Amino acid sequence: MTSGALSGQEYEKYRMAGRIASKVKDRLREIVREGEPVLEICERVEGWIVELGGRPAFPCNIGINEVAAHFTPGPGDETRIPENSIVKLDFGVHVDGYISDNAVTYVFDPRYEYLRIAADEALRSATEAIRAGLRASDIGAVIEREIAKYGCKPVRDLTGHKMERYTIHAGKSLPNVRSINGNRILEGEVYAIEPFVTIPSGAGTVVGRDGQIYRLVKEKGVKGDRAREVLDFIKREYRGLPFAQRWIIGAHFPMDYMGAWRELLEKRCIAPYPVLVEASNSPVAQSEHTVIVLRDGCEVLA
Ligand code: MN
Ligand code: MN
Repeated sequence: MTSGALSGQEYEKYRMAGRIASKVKDRLREIVREGEPVLEICERVEGWIVELGGRPAFPCNIGINEVAAHFTPGPGDETRIPENSIVKLDFGVHVDGYISDNAVTYVFDPRYEYLRIAADEALRSATEAIRAGLRASDIGAVIEREIAKYGCKPVRDLTGHKMERYTIHAGKSLPNVRSINGNRILEGEVYAIEPFVTIPSGAGTVVGRDGQIYRLVKEKGVKGDRAREVLDFIKREYRGLPFAQRWIIGAHFPMDYMGAWRELLEKRCIAPYPVLVEASNSPVAQSEHTVIVLRDGCEVLA
């Protein structure tokens, strides 16, 4: 491959992440069902990723109805998948930091089926279109056009994104609408493509609410030894990738480390990402996979 592209070793790690993601996708249908507890579903997905030889690139997201992105159940969350709902499962696999980011929508009300189809078809069209040299906005236009065919609306402030090793959002985004984004897509770059779709009367934008997915913000200002211990663990273990409290307190550290966790939050060493909810509370579908951009097309990592 040309300079600036991926080495053979990097390529292999991306492909392995993709193969694991594909196996997880195949097994999702067994567990994503009405009445099932969302915490158990997310823990199963994260467990499968590890069993298959990868690591979760972020806590498994489960978005019910108007919840579009960035929701993961907190510790002890007893929510179950409601009847007649539309559910997005979004999970990431990494192998040595090389990430495959994926999402699938499940529909338990036939009235939402067209949203799922629109999201899947928009992803398919964008995947067929993407190649080195295009602008990000060209892909946005393809996605917007495909979604319009089904009479629905893109969620315009959620986007796909370029990824790099241990980095989920590596600067460049891939919009879901025609836009002024003039960034060029280059050979060897890795992108998550992820159309989000809502009903025609929906706002087509999102608002933020409190979340349970965290990021490392800074390392300074910690007083307690336990807080320092937890912070060092987060740094070493996730290397800048997002994480969940339930992975750390009551898992790697005993429950009495809860005070250390609270200190990290109070000192703003760690911070939650907001849950993103459709602004008019309209149902949302999403379809996502990850691609390596090639000169004449792409390779799907799933
Ligand atoms: Mn995702
Ligand atoms: Mn993504």
